[in-house]
Amino acid sequence: MAVAVLAAAGASAQAPAQPTTRPRPPPAAGLPTDAELQSAMQRAYTANKGVTEGKNADYIPALAKVDPNLFGIAILTVDGRVFSIGDTGQAFSIQSISKPFVAAKLMSEMGIQQVEEKLGVNATGEAFNSIEAIERNKEAKDPPTGNPLVNAGAIAAVGNLKAANADARWSSVLDTLGAFAGRNLVMDQEIYKSEAATNTRNRSIADLLKAYEVIPGNPAEALDVYTRQCSVAVNVKDLAMMGATLATGGVNPLTGKRVVSPDVAERTLALMMTAGLYEDSGAWAFEVGVPAKSGVGGGIVAVVPGKYAVAAFSPRLDEAGNSVRAQKAIDSIVGELGGSVFRVAQRPSPGPTRR
Ligand code: GLU
Repeated sequence: MAVAVLAAAGASAQAPAQPTTRPRPPPAAGLPTDAELQSAMQRAYTANKGVTEGKNADYIPALAKVDPNLFGIAILTVDGRVFSIGDTGQAFSIQSISKPFVAAKLMSEMGIQQVEEKLGVNATGEAFNSIEAIERNKEAKDPPTGNPLVNAGAIAAVGNLKAANADARWSSVLDTLGAFAGRNLVMDQEIYKSEAATNTRNRSIADLLKAYEVIPGNPAEALDVYTRQCSVAVNVKDLAMMGATLATGGVNPLTGKRVVSPDVAERTLALMMTAGLYEDSGAWAFEVGVPAKSGVGGGIVAVVPGKYAVAAFSPRLDEAGNSVRAQKAIDSIVGELGGSVFRVAQRPSPGPTRR
């Protein structure tokens, strides 16, 4: 399916958006129109451009050096329309946003139920790199990893992918992320080196998971591939494409290729709803009502199943580790377009039922 890139008023010079020359069919029934999407996006951008709350992640030294003023938004509909504004071509590290997509790959390989049994699907209620949560789950005879969207579950997910060696494991992860994004992605070397040199806590997690027999092979290999995975460079349009591939039920709207089954896409979105925004996932579900995943690089992707995905990037994070501007922008867009998955469309009353 061809993707039309529309001009958005205020789009940065860095990523000039070109109006399509081809006549475009109207959106499929139930999807927002171009005008609705564009004005919701423009409003979210303008209203939040001046927000300076929060601060860059600094526990990975290279993330502290990213320009905190960067701000971009992209929306991609299931019928392949793209809208973007701000710093839309700016590359940043995907970080934890990679986790649901690798979980989807593992569910495709290992089976949905097996992943539920082995890695768990419940919120931990703890920080993404909690060791206490691993111990508590173990004590309760639950999967020690918690779920695939916290570090324990994500490192274990990588360690459980089918791969004969470290190179094959890395290729499996990178190809998976690329299939969702609809293009070949590459790793940001500086971010990788910075994280690999400082990730002592994640090393402890990987070793603990080996001791608890959740990682079948070498835990150092799983951790290294996980660290590479988090260092993959994306822009907001890539993230929107990845989200839109889940919004369609598993088919990439650009390449037309099926990346995962509808069942796997469904369960991936369920994981994102449960644990996508760290400890604030409950508040996000309550206030915004759509599955989403954030990363400490400042990106967030949110999915309105069957309709569109919206991604935003801005490096300043709140206490939980979620980008302040990205949350506000996505909340504004989804709210304006009525995207909450919990909202029931009201029909005119048919009047009292006659028997
Ligand atoms: N690579 C990061 C870590 O393991 C990912 C954290 C995140 O984005 O939540 O600490």
